Amino acid sequence: MVGAGWSGLAAAVALAEAGLQVTLFESAPQAGGRARTIGLETPLGRIALDNGQHLIVGAYRRTLALVERLGAAPRLHRHPMHLASSSGLSLRAAPLPAPLHLGWALLRARGLAWRERTALLRLMSGLRGAGWATLEAETVDAMLARYRQPARLVERLWAPLCVGALNTLPTQACARTFAAVLRDTLGAEADACDFIAPDAPLGALLPEPALDRLRRLGAAVRLRTTVRELRTSPSGWRVGDDGEAHAALLLALPPWSAARLIEPLGLDVAALRAFEPEPIATAWAIWPADDAPRMPHWLMLDEDPVRRHFGQWSFDRGVIGAARVAGVVVSAASRIADEAPEAVAEGIADQLQRAFGGPRAAAVRVVTERRATFRCTPRRPRLTCDHYAGRAPGLWLAGDWLWPDYPATLEAAVRSGEQAAHAIVAHLGGRDGPQPAIGPRAQGQAASSA
Ligand SMILES: Cc1cc2nc3c(=O)[nH]c(=O)nc-3n(C[C@H](O)[C@H](O)[C@H](O)COP(=O)(O)OP(=O)(O)OC[C@H]3O[C@@H](n4cnc5c(N)ncnc54)[C@H](O)[C@@H]3O)c2cc1C
Repeated sequence: MVGAGWSGLAAAVALAEAGLQVTLFESAPQAGGRARTIGLETPLGRIALDNGQHLIVGAYRRTLALVERLGAAPRLHRHPMHLASSSGLSLRAAPLPAPLHLGWALLRARGLAWRERTALLRLMSGLRGAGWATLEAETVDAMLARYRQPARLVERLWAPLCVGALNTLPTQACARTFAAVLRDTLGAEADACDFIAPDAPLGALLPEPALDRLRRLGAAVRLRTTVRELRTSPSGWRVGDDGEAHAALLLALPPWSAARLIEPLGLDVAALRAFEPEPIATAWAIWPADDAPRMPHWLMLDEDPVRRHFGQWSFDRGVIGAARVAGVVVSAASRIADEAPEAVAEGIADQLQRAFGGPRAAAVRVVTERRATFRCTPRRPRLTCDHYAGRAPGLWLAGDWLWPDYPATLEAAVRSGEQAAHAIVAHLGGRDGPQPAIGPRAQGQAASSA
């Protein structure tokens, strides 16, 4: 297997638990990929944080089940949905069965006019009535116009939700994907909308416990090992200089990294290259623990590009060491590609002071992931894990871009990884399945997968 992001880890754990011999190659010194722990130097000392603030919601059923199976569930804390903005919007879900929870939230909402509440219901019930289907190649902007959503509701609610969930502006974003997100959150049971706040950095939730589980199951984990070449041989797949042949090869990589490895095999990678990356910037704001403003767990911030108020969401991360920390998310960050990080940091310090009052942040550190997600556009290719199975038997794919219903998220990554693992087990045979059909250990033993 190549890639120890959340998709690769989900797949590797499922494969090892099914009794297959797993070898996992990862170029970074740690697991986690685009959702990993980093060490951040601050005036108040070095602190362990995330490469980017991640929002986890109750709808992430497979991710939460895996975190629980790996023993890290006590690090997660559920809060009923409360969408609140610095301009006074407040929408709080009630613990009622769907769709009553949403009806109740709308009745009690603050900052929404009655015509905006009825427009919101019109959109949700219209989409539900249509089986959550949208028009061919429709953008979120076009869909919102079709359901006659008032401009103020779009600006205050739908646009921030779209940019936050799809990391793509509504003018470009895929309506079908946005409808699937609404179906599985606001349109589902109340607990699907829960916000889930971890009390630990991302690495402690899934990557580190997954590596522990893999090692205990006898998997070989090779960190700091970049795979530069794939080769096929009669005895199976070979990865770089590694001498072993593997019965199956799972690439749990972003589309652009997978394309680089697959193209030299003479396979068509046009569909992989059709995915375009979109950055996300996370500004970590830091105050001395005893001199920080009061702030809610999370808040939708009002953007104002003229003042460089680029933050869209803030998340209180509590006290870490001597620091009080908040993560501010700037999604669809290609818009600010030309801004100097110092100017972005200044603007966000100002934005937080206006939102929360109190002392200005002692420091703001901006971490930009240039290839955070794929841009979630309507015409992006929808591929499956066995896309190359016909031309390259034993070559499988996983990653957040291979769960066609969803935008690039942890849940898409985990679902895709587990789905690929199940397909491989069905193909090769696990502990309880049929005997492996191909591979070096096909004679009575479980086959290996890389
Ligand atoms: C800043 C930021 C904020 C985000 N916010 C959210 C959020 O709020 N909610 C949410 O659900 N999702 C969010 N996401 C998206 C989420 O992190 C990703 O969808 C998910 O982590 C992708 O996992 P993956 O396993 O598919 O890919 P990756 O995490 O990219 O894993 C691929 C792995 O392969 C390794 N690799 C690549 N090439 C090679 C090679 N040649 N040899 C060996 N190893 C290789 C990489 O180092 C990496 O570890 C965010 C992402 C970022 C960056």
